[in-house]
Amino acid sequence: LFRVNDLHKGFSAPAGELHILQGITFSLIEGEFLAVVGESGSGKSTMLQILGTLDRPDRGEMWLDGESIHGLSNGRQARLRNEKIGFVYQAHHLIPELTALENVALPLLVQGVAGKEADARAASLLERLGLAARQHHVPSHLSGGEAQRVAVARALVTRPRLLLADEPTGNLDEHTAGEVFALLRQLCREERAAVVMVTHSMALAHSCDRMLRLHEGRLVSGQL
Ligand code: ATP
Ligand code: MG
Repeated sequence: LFRVNDLHKGFSAPAGELHILQGITFSLIEGEFLAVVGESGSGKSTMLQILGTLDRPDRGEMWLDGESIHGLSNGRQARLRNEKIGFVYQAHHLIPELTALENVALPLLVQGVAGKEADARAASLLERLGLAARQHHVPSHLSGGEAQRVAVARALVTRPRLLLADEPTGNLDEHTAGEVFALLRQLCREERAAVVMVTHSMALAHSCDRMLRLHEGRLVSGQL
């Protein structure tokens, strides 16, 4: 479903060139849930930004659903993101002025789905995530775990083929993190979405289908 070949990325810094990604190669089948671990600064977030076409690699190739996506124009990449890729971050990044329901419905409205149907789909997903009673709350009136579940709903409401999650439970206590992770895993399994989840939690990483470690610019087997 998703294949990445020999991605490289460097940044120029005062002390010289930083070669952060030095040949990232892996592939995911439909519905596969991959955990990526690695030291702080190893390039995990940089890699996810590139996988999500939010940044461009210096070289390397990527295919999603059989389509080559590394060479697309910015406009076509933006459309691809709207249609096929979902994102969840450590902070929920919900729009503060909108209710939970409005935040989740927004990506559907962007896709051109009619308002009523967008609201209905957003409401049913929020209900699945146990948030039926919170749908009219603005983000500041949600707990951390609730807000993160809303962010999960927003990422999945368009039924993406690929979900990229950068420490999605990093701001939560262990118990809440486990709950949010379990919901994320369950929904992605049902939707057959492939997932790349960056995490610092070994416990969560071990309960994914596969774990890889980003080490010295490459993805290596997860075990130390
Ligand atoms: P963490 O676990 O702390 O989130 P990470 O593995 O996600 O770390 P990245 O955020 O990908 O790490 O950063 C990798 C390295 O690339 C860091 O040394 C960082 O300083 C550097 N870096 C990231 N973005 C840029 C940029 N735009 N310009 C220069 N250097 C950058
Ligand atoms: Mg990071």
